[in-house]
Amino acid sequence: MHRNCVFCKIVERETPAAILWENDTILAFLDIAPLNHGHALVITKKHYQSLTMLSEPEHAALLHACARVGAALMRVVDADGFNVLLANGSCAGQVVQHVHLHVVPRHPVDGLVLPQRTVPYDNDAQRDEIATKTRQRLADASANEY
Ligand SMILES: [Zn+2]
Repeated sequence: MHRNCVFCKIVERETPAAILWENDTILAFLDIAPLNHGHALVITKKHYQSLTMLSEPEHAALLHACARVGAALMRVVDADGFNVLLANGSCAGQVVQHVHLHVVPRHPVDGLVLPQRTVPYDNDAQRDEIATKTRQRLADASANEY
């Protein structure tokens, strides 16, 4: 546990939260600043700053919990779908430095607009270079090495 981490304090029940679900490794609770009603956060109970630090079973448990929580929220708030969002790193918008996935229930016309910007490649060669280098990096690294 990190002493100054608000999510660790929620795990330890030192900070109150509207907890939805938990098991040995995962905790889900409602976001205090919801984008839509039912907006939940799904976290690992163990403190990790980055998604790249989790083990493969922890990754699986985290995403599986998102699916379960999302399915339950759809019924509770009568949503038609949900987004699963993650900001990994401050430049990506991560505010709390404890890895967390947002589960945001969605309705057909709910006014929530996610950023929709594309950055086209200059040409196919630029795209292919990035793909080739990434494939090489993935092939060279072990499954748990980033
Ligand atoms: Zn933490």
